[in-house]
Amino acid sequence: MNQHLVNQYKQLGLSEEVIAFGAKIEEELKPRFEKIDAIAEMNQLKVLHAMQKNRVSAECFNQSSGYGYNDMGRDTLEQVYADTFKGEDALVRPQITCGTHALALALMSNLRPGDELLSPVGKPYDTLEEVIGIRPSKGSLAEYGITYAQVDLLPDGGFNWDGIKNAINDKTRLVTIQRSKGYATRPTLSVDRIGELITFIKNIKPDIICMVDNCYGEFVEEKEPLEVGADMIVGSLIKNPGGGLAPIGGYICGKKECVENAAYRLTSPGLGKEVGASLGIIQSFYQGFFLAPTVTAGALKGAIFAANIYEKLGYKVVPNSTESRHDIIQAVEFGDRDAMCAFCEGIQAAAPVDSYVTPEPWAMPGYDSDVIMAAGAFVQGSSIELSADGPVKEPYAVYFQGGLTWYHAKLGILMSLQKLYERKLVNIEEI
Ligand SMILES: *Cc1c(COP(=O)(O)O)cnc(C)c1O
Repeated sequence: MNQHLVNQYKQLGLSEEVIAFGAKIEEELKPRFEKIDAIAEMNQLKVLHAMQKNRVSAECFNQSSGYGYNDMGRDTLEQVYADTFKGEDALVRPQITCGTHALALALMSNLRPGDELLSPVGKPYDTLEEVIGIRPSKGSLAEYGITYAQVDLLPDGGFNWDGIKNAINDKTRLVTIQRSKGYATRPTLSVDRIGELITFIKNIKPDIICMVDNCYGEFVEEKEPLEVGADMIVGSLIKNPGGGLAPIGGYICGKKECVENAAYRLTSPGLGKEVGASLGIIQSFYQGFFLAPTVTAGALKGAIFAANIYEKLGYKVVPNSTESRHDIIQAVEFGDRDAMCAFCEGIQAAAPVDSYVTPEPWAMPGYDSDVIMAAGAFVQGSSIELSADGPVKEPYAVYFQGGLTWYHAKLGILMSLQKLYERKLVNIEEI
């Protein structure tokens, strides 16, 4: 590595040993990073093509207020999403407050009393438990007489084909498939595996709506789930597709009817997509979507870099250092409180915002142990920006994700290693 760069890293607080260790790992990852760049290139072209085809213009960035009738920027953006993700239509709105809201909206609008929802991939993301009513909550699907069935993955991560077949009945109306593992330990699903699952389900009952929780998965592969038979995909704009620029928002993309149902629920029956002012933020949605393929690639490189560093140091990492990737989340099991906290301190210290604060474990509502969180983000809670968190209890696993640029993700991971190194929690000289 050139000496000017080494000096620059040293100025940020890295020691020569950590810099050298990181450089060695990075060198080994060159061929993998090239593949990631090739996917980003493909996805960048897809987004550009969709923007050109839909004649995105400066007028699209005008702000609308009040009812937001005839908001050309909003309507065009939805078509750009639909064309990029290969859906018939899309709902992309700042009025969708987060990923959970988008998923709740998609479910509540496409299910009716007496219907059954099936998850053939095990327990869904934590926040959906209250949406579905697995944990009782006001306004849950359960309260509206929508039942829920679940078939867990097999111990090896495979689909339980017989179990799924047996679980599908007259009432089964919608199947929810979570692409990312979220904070569970199961493997993340590739788009091709999602396709196999959908084909199997539609062979049994063709009119089942197959929904994919696409959070953290957008632009990680060259294909999205709508291309393998999904009826709708759902996600958050403060994750991958917002490209770090969208300050809020969620999307639902897919079959016209599914999207229309969601729009009628978001605003009102009869009004649907016709209302919903975009206020002044639509440009950030466009610009974020434009950047999203490369931002996602940066985050993905960071996840792989961390997996390789910490696996080499003897920690369990999920996914492991060589596995193929279908989302941007990386887990590292430290098995030790101090190491876990040191890691988070390093991520925080590398941030562009709030780098001077020290993350401390604290009791957060909804968790049965203290939680530690590191984030120094431009958009609050944004998890496409570099962040790390985890419950402070066995096995002391940190989940981390994001990084708007590869260089920042790299610095964050090296800084985490620096903190462990300074406290003599790892030995990097012998490796
Ligand atoms: C983040 C996430 C959600 C929920 O999104 P929020 O914006 O945090 O509400 C749902 N499912 C998965 C897989 C996620 O990663």
